[in-house]
Amino acid sequence: MNMLDIIYKKRDGGKLSADEINFFVKGYTEGDIPDYQASALMMAIFYKKLDREETYVLTSAMKNSGDVIDLSGIKGVKVDKHSTGGVGDKTTFVVAPIAAACGIPVAKMSGRGLGFTGGTVDKMESIPGFKTSLEKSEFVDLVNSAGISVIGQTARVAPADKKIYALRDVTATVENMSLISASIMSKKLASGCDAIVLDVKCGSGAFLESFEEACELGRLMIDIGNDDGKKTIAVITDMDQPLGKAVGNSLEVIEAIETLKGKGPSDITSLAIALSGIMIYAGGITTTMEEGKAKAEEALFSGSALQKFRAFVKGQGGDPEVIDDYSLFPQAAYFRDIKCDESGYVSGISARITGFASQHSGAGRMTKQDPIDLAAGILLHKKTGDKVVAGETLATVYGNDVSKVEKGASEMKNAFIIGGEKPVLQELIKKIIY
Ligand code: URA
Repeated sequence: MNMLDIIYKKRDGGKLSADEINFFVKGYTEGDIPDYQASALMMAIFYKKLDREETYVLTSAMKNSGDVIDLSGIKGVKVDKHSTGGVGDKTTFVVAPIAAACGIPVAKMSGRGLGFTGGTVDKMESIPGFKTSLEKSEFVDLVNSAGISVIGQTARVAPADKKIYALRDVTATVENMSLISASIMSKKLASGCDAIVLDVKCGSGAFLESFEEACELGRLMIDIGNDDGKKTIAVITDMDQPLGKAVGNSLEVIEAIETLKGKGPSDITSLAIALSGIMIYAGGITTTMEEGKAKAEEALFSGSALQKFRAFVKGQGGDPEVIDDYSLFPQAAYFRDIKCDESGYVSGISARITGFASQHSGAGRMTKQDPIDLAAGILLHKKTGDKVVAGETLATVYGNDVSKVEKGASEMKNAFIIGGEKPVLQELIKKIIY
């Protein structure tokens, strides 16, 4: 078997055999297949697609490229939540403590930011002292004692995905249904959870923009999860405008803490309640999703989820004082306000432009090695549907490098669409598939 024949076959629309897919995944992970051939195959897959069978085989080859974690040392049904990637998506910090407060052990491995979307691991590092890498025994002990631990994906979990994702990121081959499914599900299936709740985003800030594509992606990932014996539920949610009002690492963690105090934006609050309610149901604590949601609401508004968050931060070496004193988070030296030129209504805020503006202000990486500015990012003062008057501030861009703040601010101005009429607001939770 050789790689050139495999590229030819896919380029011409053929179906790859299990042996060919396994040959590629093993060879590329072990460094025997060069980047240029792997890139050519990714582009051929991007255009000619993989069918379900090829996608399943690719997912299991990627899952089995490294360790499959055994979490049997953690008591209870372990339910994971995963978002397909969004802008301002800090729901993990709200969902995990709510689920833990309701008896769901949350043992989660998360990733860093990708392109214009943020990553949970980078966000957690804005908490002074917080360790995102723990020994497996510490991870298991913390879930058993505090109910939650979230760590960075180790290099030994799905190493094939690590290499293939990095390649897709720089070869414009991210936005393919099968490649996204295999990437996400290989990591989830290797990470040792018992059930999975997927937050599948659609809209301008999602990798797949249309509702129909998001549903198809959700269905494909559910089938892959179920085939592996894991109960999998997908929630299709809107990512046309950023989630909440904060985009950027420390800004998002602060907004998540406000939400845990019951003072968060309504979109984050309702999405977190819905997702954690589904996790509580998937973990068998309730018999319906509605009951799960009611439990989640109670945990959020009684303060028990905030207590779990405190224990989680402390357990991972972070300073829990940040919860009461936000000045302990990294602070930005510069900021620029974005003013509104005309009066009317905000008829849209492009999540994609906001994501890029935040990345360029310093909150994200331009190359894999770049350090990130944990204080950089954007605070939205207006959201879609809000009335605005000329001269009002729409958003503020923060950061520690003045030229990056200027760049982010000049881009952010284009994210807002102002119209004369109040727009009809999009449903945040569009569909639940299982
Ligand atoms: N998130 C992932 O982990 N992989 C993708 O391909 C897209 C989003």
